[in-house]
Amino acid sequence: MSRTKPLHDLQLLDQQRDTALDRLARIEHALGRAPAVVAAQAALAASEAALARVEEALAACQAKRQTLKARMAAEEAQLYGGRTASAREIEGQKANLDAHQRQLSDLDDAALAIMLERDAAAAATAAARRSVDDALAAAEGTDAQLRAARTRLTEGLAVLDPRREQARSQVAPADLALYDRLKADTKRGGISVARVTGEACGGCGRALTSAETQRAAAGLAQCPSCGRILHA
Ligand SMILES: [Zn+2]
Repeated sequence: MSRTKPLHDLQLLDQQRDTALDRLARIEHALGRAPAVVAAQAALAASEAALARVEEALAACQAKRQTLKARMAAEEAQLYGGRTASAREIEGQKANLDAHQRQLSDLDDAALAIMLERDAAAAATAAARRSVDDALAAAEGTDAQLRAARTRLTEGLAVLDPRREQARSQVAPADLALYDRLKADTKRGGISVARVTGEACGGCGRALTSAETQRAAAGLAQCPSCGRILHA
C-alpha cells in the first residue's frame, strides 16, 4: 500500500465527519428558532413593553388624582368646618377649591383616555400571544424533522468515529502530524490530501511536473502551491 493511501482514506472519513458536524451545528441552531416564531416572539415582547408603559402612565395618573383628592378633602374641611374666617378668606378658599376641582376633572379625563389605551394594548398583547402559539404549533412539524435529522447524524457519527480512529492508527505518526497541521490551517478548507488528477494537484489545480508526480507516487510529497499532501 502506498504511503499516502491511509492518509487519503482518513481524509475521506474526515470530510464525511466534518460535513455531519457542520449539519449538526446548523440543526442545533435552527431547532426552536423557526423565523416565524422568532418574529412572533419579538412582536409579543414589543406589545408587552407598550402595555407596561401604558400601565405605568395610568398608575402615575391615579396617584396624582389621589393626592389631589386628599388635598381637596382637607381644603373642604377647612372651608366648611365652621372655623370663623373673613369673607375674603372664604372667597379665596372657594376659588382654590374650584381650581382643584377643574384639575381633578382633567385628571379624570386623562385617566379615562389612558384606560382605553390600556385596553387596546392589552388586546394587542393577547393577540400577539396567540400569534406566538400559532407559530409554535406550525413550527412543531419542522422541529420534529430537525430532531429526526439530528438523530440520524448523531448515529452516523457514532459509526464514523471508530472507523476514523482505526484509519488514524494506520498512518505513521509523522505523517499524521503533518496531516493534522495542514487540516487545522483554515486556508485549505480542512482538506489536507489532494489526489493527483491528470498531472495536476486535485486540490488547487496547479500543474505538476513529471518529477513531482513521480515523487508523489513514490512516497510523500506536498503540492508546491497549496501544500496539500499529494495522493497519486
Ligand atoms: Zn495544490
